[in-house]
This record gives sequence, structure tokens and C-alpha cells, in this order.
Amino acid sequence: MWETVIGLEVHVELSTKTKIFCGCSTAFGAKPNTQCCPVCMGLPGALPIFNGEVLRYATMAAIAFNCEISKTSVFDRKNYFYPDLPKAYQISQLYFPIGKNGKVPIKVGDTEKVIRIHEMHMEEDAGKLIHSEYDNETYPDYNRCGVPLIEIVSEPDFRSSAEVIAYLQKIKSICEYLGISDCKMQEGSMRVDINLSVRKKGEETFGTRTETKNINSFRAIEHAIEHESARQIDAIESGERIIQQTRHWNEDKRSSYAMRSKENAQDYRYFPEPDLLPLVVTDEYIESVRASLPEMAESRKQRFMSDYALSDYDASLLTASLHTAELFEKTLSKINMPKEIANWIIVPLQKLLNERGKTLDDVSLDPDNFAEVISKVTSGKINRASGMEILEAMVEAGGKIDVDGYIKEHSMEAIDDDGLIVDTVRKIVGANPASVAEYKGGKTKVLGFFVGQVMKELKGKANPAKVNEAILKELSK
Ligand code: ADP
Ligand code: MG
Ligand code: ZN
Repeated sequence: MWETVIGLEVHVELSTKTKIFCGCSTAFGAKPNTQCCPVCMGLPGALPIFNGEVLRYATMAAIAFNCEISKTSVFDRKNYFYPDLPKAYQISQLYFPIGKNGKVPIKVGDTEKVIRIHEMHMEEDAGKLIHSEYDNETYPDYNRCGVPLIEIVSEPDFRSSAEVIAYLQKIKSICEYLGISDCKMQEGSMRVDINLSVRKKGEETFGTRTETKNINSFRAIEHAIEHESARQIDAIESGERIIQQTRHWNEDKRSSYAMRSKENAQDYRYFPEPDLLPLVVTDEYIESVRASLPEMAESRKQRFMSDYALSDYDASLLTASLHTAELFEKTLSKINMPKEIANWIIVPLQKLLNERGKTLDDVSLDPDNFAEVISKVTSGKINRASGMEILEAMVEAGGKIDVDGYIKEHSMEAIDDDGLIVDTVRKIVGANPASVAEYKGGKTKVLGFFVGQVMKELKGKANPAKVNEAILKELSK
């Protein structure tokens, strides 16, 4: 029996306003090469100045990942030439990273496990190369040069893709709660390299690993892991040796190809960055950062359980991502129905998002709009099925629609006309004397039958509370 062994290198782009060593903006999506200066372009004579916000963000992360924080951390130059890096070196941390020996607990199904963090360091991002399919040229965009990153290097502690996904979701959730990154994989603000080897179960030593890059969704990570693990097992079983190399994942083709043989630290000729002093942090600094940490998932979950009487299960689901927790609380500030809102989020909303492969990152559901739909259903203005339909339209529209307009356009208004409801009830009750007799004989269950018949007659649009009331009145005659 084979066992898969995985270690992850995760890059997270920090959402500081400016870059790590200059004052250029880090905003995503600007016109190429409009957010650069001599420092981040590495022009001769330009000198870096360290952005203190990066240290604060990195310290928050180090605390949240339970790392030991280095009182003195040092920037190193990692030398390599590639057109996305005009300086021909990246400022990173190799020998004295800001955090070491961290621990991130994860849960897969009912099994809990702790993933060990080897180290966590700060570094600058490189630019982006845009390969044009139209003219077969490559266009460099240097806006991303110098955007601050933290790189989180795990120990080879993962044994399945499910553990990897649980860990990445945890990292993402922690960074979102801290407010230090949006961790959007599709925008490259969270990037994952997968180091993977296989071995026979029970073996003590690890096999030779490959490193797979260019993976930009959770789904692609799952595919890449299954694929690479099968590829290595196949190779070994047919007598080949695994070569330590860097591989490139192609999600469309669901396959990978070798990019280059894996480089070692020596290849980069690392040396301490001469233009920057070592970073020294005091205990007081670390404690002040710790004291300023925002409310995290676990305490929010406890608060949801005690303040809103939600179950452990509901509270866990609602707080797993900050977006979900915020949607819940913002909706709650409009309509005070915690259990009802929780149900809407956990069941239909989650289903609609899953079907589209999306999350609340992509669809920022408007809490006012959401509250409006829920209260229209609970007050009987529209029926539940219509409510679900409107929610779907909201998700399709990217999070917000004109609810009243939609209800009119699709004639979803519940029948509130008392006269019509009473007439229909009379008709149904009159047509079913046997059921009336059963009811009078004590079989109150037939009430459901009457409600069903009346609703059917009124095409499901009657206000259920009114129907119930009218039937009871009619039957008590
Ligand atoms: P490098 O410096 O070459 O990138 P590291 O020793 O820093 O190598 O390891 C990088 C990542 O690879 C770490 O996450 C580590 O856990 C993982 N790793 C190391 N050896 C193996 C292995 N044999 N199988 C799977 N993952 C591994
Ligand atoms: Mg590495
Ligand atoms: Zn700059």
C-alpha cells in the first residue's frame, strides 16, 4: 500500500496599502506598469526602506500560526535572473525568518490533526509576465514587484488532499479574520506550491519529491495532488526513479509537465541584504500586536452559540469564513431571527454557491437584500419556494437585485385576499365531508390535508398563516 507525503509552501500577499520597500500602491488590477518606482524596479542607486506595516501583519500571522517569533530577523538576497524580476534578486529571509516552529490545527471529518509549520518569512513579490496568445509575445507587468508576501512553509505532515484543503482553508480564514490578506487564489493573492512524494506504508524515510506550481483554485489543488501521486506510483511500479524537479500544472488538460530540475538554496547565492539592517522586535512590540488581534473564528463561534443560541454545528459553519460570519451578523442587525438566517445561509445559499463553484468571496451578497427576502417569506408575503428563486437570482446577479421588482415581474405576491382564501376553504371543506368527520372525531392530522388542498387550489401562493386560520375557523363551525 502506498502513502502520499505532502509539504506545502504557501505565499500570501499582504494587503498593506503600500509595497514592502517603497511607497508604491499595492492595489490589484491597475493598468500595467503604473505602480512602479526606481526602488521596486531595482534601478541603480535606489535604496529600500522597510514598511513597518509589513512587520505588524507578519507578526499577527506568526502569532496566529503559533510560531516562535524571532527577536532578530534578517533579510537576505535571493539571486536569480528572470524577466519578472528586474533587480535580478528578490529580498527574502532565509537564515533568520520572522517565525519558526508553528502549529496549525486542522479537522477533516471528525479527525483532528496538527500541521507543523517549519518557518514563516517575509519577502517581496516579483512582477507578472503576461504571455499573449495573439502575437506570441510576453509582456512584463511590474506593478506586483515589491508587493509584500509572507511565505509559510509546512513540515511534510499531510497525507491526503483533504488534509491539504482543510489546512489551506484554515490559513485563508485566519488571514481574513486578521485582515492581512484577502487570500483570493484566482487573483494570485494566495499561491500554493505542492511538494509531494510517495512511499510504501510503514517506511521510515521519505521518497524523492517533486514540486508542483501554478495552481490557482482549491479544485485544481485536489486534481494536481491526485494526479501527481498516481504518476509517481506508476513510475516507481514500472521501475523508474523519481527525479527531483519542479512541475507545472495545467488544470484544463488535467496534467503536468516538468519545468526544470529543482534548484537548491545554494543555486540562489543567498547573502544578507546589505541595504537593510536586521529587524529587531521587542517583547513589548509582540505583546502590543497580540493585544490588538481582532476577534478570531473560535471566539466568534463561542459568541454565536451563547448570544444567539445556535448549535455548535451551525456556529462552526457560520464562522469558518469571515464573509459568512459577517453576512450572518449584518443580516441579523436587520431582522432578529438568528436560527432562520443561519438556516438560509447553511442550506440554500451554500447549495447555490457550491453548484456554481463559488464562495461569498466572489458573490458579495447584500445583507439588506438578503434580509428583505427572508422577512418576505417569514411574514407570508411570498412563499418559501419563491424566496429560494429570488435568492438564486440574487446570486446570479452578483449579490443584489430589486426584490420588489422581481416579485411583481414574476407575480409571486402571496394571495392576501381574505375573501378569496375563505371562499376556497369553504369549497374544499364542503367537498370533503368524510375528512371533516375524521377531524371532528379527533383526527387533527387531516388539517394538513385541508391546507394542502387549499394551497393547491391557490397555486401555492396563499399566505399559509391565513389559510390555517381560515380552515380552523371553518372546521369549528
Ligand atoms: P527547498 O528549500 O528545496 O524548497 P525545503 O526543505 O525547504 O526545500 O522543503 C520545501 C517543502 O517541501 C517543505 O514544505 C517540506 O515540508 C516539503 N518536503 C520536503 N521533503 C519532502 C518529501 N520528501 N516529500 C514531500 N514533501 C517534502
Ligand atoms: Mg522552498
Ligand atoms: Zn515602488
